[in-house]
This record gives sequence, structure tokens and C-alpha cells, in this order.
Amino acid sequence: MPLQIVSHPDYDAGFAPSHRFPMTKYRHLMEQLDALGLTGGLSRPDSISPDLLRLAHDADYVEQVLACAVPPGIEREIGFPVDQRVSRRAQLAAGGTLLAARLALSHGIACNAAGGSHHARRSHGAGFCTFNDVAVASHALLAEGLVANVLVVDLDVHQGDGTADILGGNPAVFTFSMHAEKNYPMRKEASGLDIGLPDGTEDDAYLETLASTLTGLSRLRDWDIVFYNAGVDPHREDRLGRLSLSDEGLRRRDRMVIEHFRAANIPLCGVIGGGYSNDAPALAARHAILFETAAAFA
Ligand SMILES: [Zn+2]
Repeated sequence: MPLQIVSHPDYDAGFAPSHRFPMTKYRHLMEQLDALGLTGGLSRPDSISPDLLRLAHDADYVEQVLACAVPPGIEREIGFPVDQRVSRRAQLAAGGTLLAARLALSHGIACNAAGGSHHARRSHGAGFCTFNDVAVASHALLAEGLVANVLVVDLDVHQGDGTADILGGNPAVFTFSMHAEKNYPMRKEASGLDIGLPDGTEDDAYLETLASTLTGLSRLRDWDIVFYNAGVDPHREDRLGRLSLSDEGLRRRDRMVIEHFRAANIPLCGVIGGGYSNDAPALAARHAILFETAAAFA
């Protein structure tokens, strides 16, 4: 079976290539996945409905984003103005993660070629994140009764503060974040489990910690779905990363996570998370590792 991949041309909101958020990576990623022969199971998402957004975000904030009327202070925290294209992109990315989660439930594994906007909180966006797609999708699946136990495994180099803020009080969900301790956000929000790693943690130490943690997470409950944020910013060449992982380290990481949950027949929904470089093709190649690895389990 081809890997189920969710993507949309409008994931790219058309920022200039020099913008500090590397928006062109979405287009480069799809071109590379196509060249790798991985796009045989491609789906296009719809925009998420406002009702579903309101399960995870305050109604006022949802309205502000949909109307492109986000207060300047919040836009500053997000890192760019929320215009029509950014608003549409955020609605599509959340719709994409929900679609990928549904595909994961029916096919075992699926990935959204965007998503992982884990700094978006209930009341406002932050850190290049407008809507928290994983939190929205988790709430949507729980509300439909499709799942009862949701696990979030967030391996982006930054702490998943927004996800912890939105899902923290929900007993059906457990959030795990492993990140660089001395990195954004400075004020961290307690996840179910946080592991803050020192700068310069390299492949072997990182993977050793991850392996023992995954075993512990599986002992907690029988998970109905895992959302995996496969951010590539722990890479040693990432502009915002501090953990010094290699390409091979990212590949071993993704294989370890996917193998762990798929061996137990737990559906896994992958999202790409963060990755920052002015070299968009190199960055897209790092994000492609998730898809190459997941394809072996499809
Ligand atoms: Zn990040």
C-alpha cells in the first residue's frame, strides 16, 4: 500500500524566500516526495470547520483568525500577520491533520505534509503557530467517539507548550514533549511528561533516552492513536535547533517511534513540525525522512 499522505498547495502561504519562516519548504517537500515515488496515496484536505476549531481554541480567537482581524500583539507573538492566505493555510493544515488522523485509524499510518503547530494555545497563536492542529484533531476524534485514549509524542526541538495548554486538563489525552531545555519557549507549560535535553545532545544519547521513554509510555494505557510531531529542528544544521542530531539520527528516531507503535498495532498520525533553514531543498529533504520511514510501514 502507498503511504497515505495529506497535502494541499495552499499549505504554502507564499512568503518571500527570505522570510524567517521558511514557507517554501512545503512545496519543496511535495516535489521531493513525488521524485521519491511516495505520492501514490495523496489526499487533499478541506478547511477545518469553525465548530471543530472552537473545541480547542477560544471562540474569540477563532473568529479573529477567520476574519483576518488578529490583534497586532498576538500577530507579533505568532511572528507574521494573519492575512487571507495565512488564515486559509491554518484552516487547511488543521483539516489536514484531522484527515491524516482519520486515515491513520483506517490504514494504520498516515502523515500530514504540514502541521505540528504546537505553540498555539487555547486563547492565541504563538511561535509561527496559528491553530494547534494536533489539539484540534484530538478533540474532534474524541468528540466523535472514534478514540478514547490519545497520545501525543512531540519530538520537535521546542517544547509543546500550546499542546500542553490546550490538552493538559483532558484525562483522555497524554502529552509527551522531548526538546532542548534552553530554547523557546522560555516559559514552558507542563506536559504529561517533559524531557528537556542539554544543548549538543547527539544521536546516541538522544535515542537512548527516547527508547526507554517509549517503553514507559506504552505501559501507561492502551492508546487508540498516537500523534507524532516529527519536527526536524533537532538537526545540527537547523537555525533554531540545539541538539546536534544527524540525518541518520533523525532517520533512526523516526523509525524507532513508528516501529514502536506499529508493532503494537497502534494507529500513528505523523505531522512534520518545525524545521528552519534558508536552504529550502535541504530542509525539505530532512522533512522527507518522516515520509520515507513511514512508507515502509504502510
Ligand atoms: Zn520547533
